[in-house]
Amino acid sequence: MNKIQQNPVLERIPVDGPCPRCGAEELRRYPVVSEGGWFQVVKCQSCLYSVEREPWSRLGPIQLLSDSL
Ligand SMILES: [Zn+2]
Repeated sequence: MNKIQQNPVLERIPVDGPCPRCGAEELRRYPVVSEGGWFQVVKCQSCLYSVEREPWSRLGPIQLLSDSL
């Protein structure tokens, strides 16, 4: 049976600590894609303040074999 590959689930990983803007302990780390490629962000889920934003792998959740060698 061939199983159709679903898009990978992008987990939102809880991050300890309060939001610097609204104080809610709702920080999550997850990848987002925008112009310029993929970024790994830490965002407050309450007010959507971006605490951190760093470039991630070129293709996001897709890992090329050649990238992991
Ligand atoms: Zn917040």
